[in-house]
Amino acid sequence: MSFNLTRDDLIRSQNYIAGRWVDAAAGELFEVGNPADMSLITRVPDSTAAEARAAVDAAHSAFAEWRALPARARGQLLKRWHALILEHREDLGRLVSLEQGKPLAEGRGEVLYAASYVEWFAEEAARIEGDIIAPAVPGRRMMAVREPVGVVAVITPWNFPAAMIARKIAPALAAGCTVVAKPAEDTPLTSLALIRLAEEAGVPAGVINIVCASRERTPAVVDAWLAERRVRKISFTGSTPVGKHLARASADTLKKLSLELGGNAPFIVFDDADLDAAVEGLMAAKFRNGGQTCVCPNRVYVHEAVFDVFADKLVARVAALKVAPATDPEAQIGPMINARAVDKILQHIDDAVARGARVLTGGTRVREELGPNYISPAVLADVGRDARLCGEETFGPVVPLFRFGSEAEVLELANDTPFGLAGYFYSENASRIWRVADALETGIVGINEGAVASEAAPFGGVKESGYGREGSKYGLDDYMHLKYLCQGNL
Ligand code: NAD
Repeated sequence: MSFNLTRDDLIRSQNYIAGRWVDAAAGELFEVGNPADMSLITRVPDSTAAEARAAVDAAHSAFAEWRALPARARGQLLKRWHALILEHREDLGRLVSLEQGKPLAEGRGEVLYAASYVEWFAEEAARIEGDIIAPAVPGRRMMAVREPVGVVAVITPWNFPAAMIARKIAPALAAGCTVVAKPAEDTPLTSLALIRLAEEAGVPAGVINIVCASRERTPAVVDAWLAERRVRKISFTGSTPVGKHLARASADTLKKLSLELGGNAPFIVFDDADLDAAVEGLMAAKFRNGGQTCVCPNRVYVHEAVFDVFADKLVARVAALKVAPATDPEAQIGPMINARAVDKILQHIDDAVARGARVLTGGTRVREELGPNYISPAVLADVGRDARLCGEETFGPVVPLFRFGSEAEVLELANDTPFGLAGYFYSENASRIWRVADALETGIVGINEGAVASEAAPFGGVKESGYGREGSKYGLDDYMHLKYLCQGNL
């Protein structure tokens, strides 16, 4: 199987600003490669502050007309975009796998997941409502109406190149905002293809603008947006340090912020759990995208009474996972995004072993003939609580197992992190289920379930995993503000 697309023109190598596909003014480019074999796919513009400002000019000019369009009409355009994404889902799925490396079945799945957000917000657009408020004094009418915040800057990570851009741009457009976007430098191509389809759907010029930049040039592009008063909101998904930088740097213009940042998810298996279901849930939660997912379990706590049985069942499953390029129809773990990522994962494993952990399976570089980006999925037992694996996001296919004795002990361990994105636990005891769900300090809790993401549910974190929610009926709130209208002298 190859990556041949039915429509070559979905591989774009220009920015899209004010309804035109354009190069960066200085003509500079950077390379986008395939992590499976490090081959070159194409080159895209290495933009500067000049392109960033041109994108804001376009988005700002388009805002008045776009917000004035009836919300249902905006929803109709989103529905057309949704239909085109579905029509081209095979090409888009191949593009996701080509630039990001995930197995093709997952690339296809991500496109459907991305499309589900576009459809959801196409429908939500029709339900933007306000309130009539009982007046506190006679002779008045008081109401609260919802308005789009204005130009939104969207900045996305590389691990879900279709889903991240769709679940930010769709609510922004539904709310009546216009967008300037910068995709991750490793994976700009899916985003560009999605914007090409939005253009075909009839989204007016200037409503969506996309600017690519290399890792080195990205700060200049984003700084230009941070400095712009006309950019009223930043919607960012990525690492916690960059998220904190954006929060600090947007203080001068007091932009609204949505920050979907890193996680360090606990996964707890109680002694009253259905162990087979827990293994299944862990496999689904941990190994999607090779463990390069923000909601991946990073710390797996197993009650001492069931530890050995659980570890044996898990190891049998993990050792059987097939590591292969995305084009291999049997691939279950593709390449990591780059060799630096593999180095970090191996360092985490070495550090845990130096502190006494045992490697039960995997944890080495494999498929050297293809390049340095492949690692065998690993299970580690008896990991010390001071290991780096415990405190930092590993972002790879490594399961560190920890033993625990009591519910109180494991809750303390689970919450002992600055992060709070997702948490999971398995138990068949109804009272424990409510107690633990209440006690976990995370924005998302999977209860006897490993695959939790859904366009119908609010996705986001607490603590240093960020703020703001994507998807669900709450997902428009971050792109709108409330305006209070008061009419007197009735
Ligand atoms: P990253 O923070 O390095 O990059 C994310 C985006 O920020 C990219 O577009 C990048 O170019 C840009 N960026 C990098 N440096 C910047 C700077 N100085 N100024 C402005 N922008 C800058 O993150 P990543 O490595 O691409 O993604 C992985 C991280 O994203 C992980 O921590 C993961 O947990 C997190 N993530 C979170 C969620 C969520 O919903 N919470 C979802 C997916 C990924």
